[in-house]
Amino acid sequence: MDVVGIVAAGGQGARLGGPLPKQLRDLGGRSVLQRTVDAFDRSGRVQALIVVLPADWIDHPAATIESAKPLERVVGGERRQESVARGFDRVPLDAEVVVVHDAARPFVTPALIDRTVDAARESGAAIAALSVQETVKEATDRVLEADESAEELPHDVGARRWVKRTLPRGSIVLAQTPQAFRRAVLEAAVRLGRQGVEATDEATLAELAGYPVRLVEGDPRNLKITTPADLDYARWLVGRPASEGPLRVGVGYDVHRLVPGRPLVLGGVAIPFDRGPVGHSDGDAVCHAIIDALLGAVAAGDIGAAFPDTDERWRGAISLELLRRIGAELSARGFQVANIDVVVILEQPRIAPYAAAMRHAIASALAIEGVRVSVKGKTHEGLGPIGQGEAVAAHAVALVAGPV
Ligand code: MG
Repeated sequence: MDVVGIVAAGGQGARLGGPLPKQLRDLGGRSVLQRTVDAFDRSGRVQALIVVLPADWIDHPAATIESAKPLERVVGGERRQESVARGFDRVPLDAEVVVVHDAARPFVTPALIDRTVDAARESGAAIAALSVQETVKEATDRVLEADESAEELPHDVGARRWVKRTLPRGSIVLAQTPQAFRRAVLEAAVRLGRQGVEATDEATLAELAGYPVRLVEGDPRNLKITTPADLDYARWLVGRPASEGPLRVGVGYDVHRLVPGRPLVLGGVAIPFDRGPVGHSDGDAVCHAIIDALLGAVAAGDIGAAFPDTDERWRGAISLELLRRIGAELSARGFQVANIDVVVILEQPRIAPYAAAMRHAIASALAIEGVRVSVKGKTHEGLGPIGQGEAVAAHAVALVAGPV
């Protein structure tokens, strides 16, 4: 065995929130982890892979991985360095180079993997790193002592941050993964970690163990998905849901009678009005129509089956939260919402002033970009019960891209 890859996917992704750890979330029809593994599959150097997964998720369908190369799945530890150490335990003794990579960096290229491996084979240890284009400041929570205005500042000064000094950026690089090591170097790094030395990457441990670490030109596209905004951006980058998998369209409709004294909530937005919808939940006809459109697109029944009105759990439920659950369920099954369009039919008040807030609330609940959601208002021209202001109705269509 010449080169072995360790993909560190052991994290629970607490910072991202959501139903699944970030590395198992859908990214344009494939999980973040699968995209990362695909890059290693295309590497000309790496011959086998060890993927370290969180214990709670290793048997989940979202943790299914396909690879053209021999692939072993290993249960990770509490922290990243322990996860990598457990992966390292499975590296064959005859491996020459081991390359470690974060599963949460799905845009790594085979070329970047290969040049990091080549540099490590030559120099013992090598990491992908980015030079810094911005001016680099060191930050501090304290006002410098020389600043005489310090005493006049309000009590909450500790929450503010200040520039301590400007650093010469020429000598600064940002460490990414892949990070590659000759087997003996990574073994020494792992040993140091097991002795209690803490580090956020394996290169730090190798440095502390006394090995020189070579820098390889990283790739600005090799971004790490940490926050929900990162995942949104990554999804925008992969975009093109239309080309990612089979497209499915769903339609949804809902109507609720309006009565005095009930709050009017539509698309998750509270609208000041003297009447509101009757319903087992909050009667948010917009969210209900969207839920039916999404369930329809994936042929998964309807809102009545998903959240039965005989179930006390859903009495007075916030429908935006129900929508969030459906979105998470679709995402876990590998579906991606391409777009949603809604028509709200309400005699009064006018929907237009609230449409932007509704779009934002719906997009946030589904963890998609705002441009993928449209909300339009219509009156019913005084015709029939809706036209008489006795009811609100909503039509929705949803386009969903299936897993490839
Ligand atoms: Mg309803």
